[in-house]
Amino acid sequence: MTGRMIVICAPSGTGKSTLLNRLKKDHPELEWSVSCTTRPKRNGETDGIDYHFVETSDFEKQIEEGMFIEWAKVHSNYYGTSQRFVDEGLKLGKSMLFDLDVQGADAMKKLYGTDAQIIFIEPPSVEELEKRLRLRGTDANHVINERVENARKEILRKHDYDHIVLNDDVNQAYGRLEKIVKGILL
Ligand code: ADP
Ligand code: 5GP
Repeated sequence: MTGRMIVICAPSGTGKSTLLNRLKKDHPELEWSVSCTTRPKRNGETDGIDYHFVETSDFEKQIEEGMFIEWAKVHSNYYGTSQRFVDEGLKLGKSMLFDLDVQGADAMKKLYGTDAQIIFIEPPSVEELEKRLRLRGTDANHVINERVENARKEILRKHDYDHIVLNDDVNQAYGRLEKIVKGILL
């Protein structure tokens, strides 16, 4: 069987990392795409596992060198997916898991069509998303405000994607997400 590309896309604060961490643990067969970012590392994050944390000048150099299959500016920081990771995964027929914003999801769809399956995770409401961001306590007020405003726009895009999972109750949401992933991997 050839590998599949599973792209998880969700507004910041929806609970995507929570669901993804569980998915990664339960499905070690999925190769996790570690993105590059210029955003500062949060408490609890590890360089090389959650992201490759790089300086803006290094990121821009890597754009010029064609290191990214897609990259985007999200919430005022750069994020990018390694071209080499995807090429090698495809060559070896591996199934790959990505965490991308709507721009990245659109880029992967354009490049890979139905081979890239986009799962959009939606919050119960923007108010609940804001509450989750504030309770998480990892971002400054102005960062949260920017993420909430972006979330309003991103949620409008949800019907453009292959699957939607509502993250209301986290266990139920995980069950729905895992069922979709298993269906894609069949
Ligand atoms: P994201 O990766 O989408 O930015 P996180 O996974 O960091 O979001 O979740 C944001 C916050 O919301 C975290 O504190 C997390 O524990 C919490 N959270 C995640 N899912 C739920 C849920 N279904 N109900 C309530 N809180 C949740
Ligand atoms: P966070 O800073 O909360 O980890 O991520 C912010 C946003 O950037 C999320 O929507 C996440 O999906 C997105 N993101 C993470 N890595 C990439 C990437 O490589 N490319 C794109 N386009 N978006 C990414």
